[in-house]
Amino acid sequence: LFGGIPTAPPDSILGLTEAFQADKNPDKMNLSVGVYKDASGQTPILDCVKAAEQRLVDTEATKGYLPIDGGPDYRGHVRKLVFAETIAAERVTVVQTPGGTGALRESAAFIADQLSGRRVWVPSPTWANHNSVFASERLLVENYRYLGSDKKSFDIDGMLDDLSSKTNVGDAVLLHACCHNPTGVDPTPSQWAQIADVVAERGLLPLIDFAYQGFGHGLDEDAESIRAISAKCDELMVCSSFSKNFGLYSERVGALCVVSSDSATASAIQSQIKKLVRTNYSNPPRHGAAVVATILDDEKLTAQWHDELAMMRNRIKTLREQFVETMKTTGAGHDFSFLLDQNGMFSFSGLNPMQVDELLHKHSIYIVGSGRINVAGMSESRMGHLCEAIAKVVEG
Ligand code: PMP
Repeated sequence: LFGGIPTAPPDSILGLTEAFQADKNPDKMNLSVGVYKDASGQTPILDCVKAAEQRLVDTEATKGYLPIDGGPDYRGHVRKLVFAETIAAERVTVVQTPGGTGALRESAAFIADQLSGRRVWVPSPTWANHNSVFASERLLVENYRYLGSDKKSFDIDGMLDDLSSKTNVGDAVLLHACCHNPTGVDPTPSQWAQIADVVAERGLLPLIDFAYQGFGHGLDEDAESIRAISAKCDELMVCSSFSKNFGLYSERVGALCVVSSDSATASAIQSQIKKLVRTNYSNPPRHGAAVVATILDDEKLTAQWHDELAMMRNRIKTLREQFVETMKTTGAGHDFSFLLDQNGMFSFSGLNPMQVDELLHKHSIYIVGSGRINVAGMSESRMGHLCEAIAKVVEG
């Protein structure tokens, strides 16, 4: 039965990490996968998470199943984190999901199951898994222009033109709320207002990927894009991930929020998504969401989380600055200061596939083929080594 099954190609990003792990070079560096690393190269557990976990160990009384749509406390906290009090609670459906990917997958399943639009527009470029997740639910994936031809700037005109001339009413449009992956290039507030106008005028469904809340400018600041969209659109979906901002990568914590125009519709949608979840993974994992709820239930732990999140955000900014400055000292004559305007973990370095390949084979530095660099994977102590290697490959 299984004899003829071919080997699937490795995941473009996680496959690189497998190769990295097998690499024997002591100077190897993995700047491919999107995880935050501290100065010692570790992906740390936040202190607020450790404290919440300790509390859970002491008080948790059961490992019984959660409800299909997740814990009510957790869902309430997610709603406030994403929407503050800008939208009436009864209009918001919140479903706890295994990570942001789980939220995206359920959003796709819901669109395929309940809506007439079968198309999702994603930016070019976007996180590679978007295409696969939507295709898995048999949705047609189309691209709208996003990154300018200089590979550094935002092509707002191209985006607005594509959305207003190529889309049909009911198509979904995937928007990165902040810290666009893979480019780090985000719209300004006034550009968000323009995007919201076009999305509303064309009758599109905003499907907002919110995987990096707090990594751009702050928890509330990063939600401004969602405010701009919800000011113009009564119906929208948001896929949140708490992998990065709580450092809970492997605990699989996320949520799908759906905003409807009234509470009856919100309840109907909750029931439909529960039906989809039941046949997919039945109910979500407890631990990570319990950690998030424990932190957000407690003022002190919440304040501690805000500090730790700010520390990660500011450190990434400092790494960007250090990288740009150190590149200048190599004499490679390649100005990377455009990285300073970009947000979040990632940046498009502008390195071409040949240079990326050379970095890997000659220097054991792993970045994604598109030239995307995980800035949050750099380290202060190894910046010189990284920049010298990049200088060598850009000089040819
Ligand atoms: N969306 C984007 C844009 C991402 O970068 C990621 C994580 N790399 C996700 C969603 C998925 O997040 P999670 O790991 O929580 O599934």
